[in-house]
Amino acid sequence: MKQHITENEREVIKLITFFKKRGERLAAEGTLTQEHQELNAACERLTEKIYSHADFRQQVMDKHETLKGIIEDHAQCPTCGKADLLKKTSVATNELGWKSNRYKCRRCNIEFTWNRPNNPWDMIPFLEVCLQELDDNIAALQAEEELRARAQEARDHMAISLEQLRSAIHSADTEKHQMEEQDKEMARMLHEFKKYLMIEKIKMEPFSEN
Ligand SMILES: [Zn+2]
Repeated sequence: MKQHITENEREVIKLITFFKKRGERLAAEGTLTQEHQELNAACERLTEKIYSHADFRQQVMDKHETLKGIIEDHAQCPTCGKADLLKKTSVATNELGWKSNRYKCRRCNIEFTWNRPNNPWDMIPFLEVCLQELDDNIAALQAEEELRARAQEARDHMAISLEQLRSAIHSADTEKHQMEEQDKEMARMLHEFKKYLMIEKIKMEPFSEN
């Protein structure tokens, strides 16, 4: 996945290529020094690091994008109760900061905000509130055994879904955080290495046709 590297990474790769070519030329001429050989080996290791980090970053970002889209609304128009003429228009944020999709029903010519969040991060606290409400309802159903059992079943089902969602999002977020830390560390290292390579390049320029 070599195409997903940053500008900074690309610049370092370019410098590395310069030193690699120079090393090859010196080797062909039989004048490759130990020092240059070591520099090339360090460049080689760094190149591998850059690409493996870029792959990791891409993989984490792809997963993040996928997670953003896992919630399906199954929205219905509150007036006609149908979904066939709905068109998503925008995204609304409620007072708790949860984002939900807005739709227009072209039959009824109304716009409305769907009653659930459109992403798994906001879906977690939303489901927590739903569970709490279900628990309250179940407590109020003490006298009605059958209704109570059915409500309990729905509640347990929702609790399982919530746990699965919570653990999936938690591990994805942890991984993303790790990647971002690694990204910062990588950028810092590349900055230093780039400085070093540029100095080396300047040092050799008076003696080189490059
Ligand atoms: Zn409608």
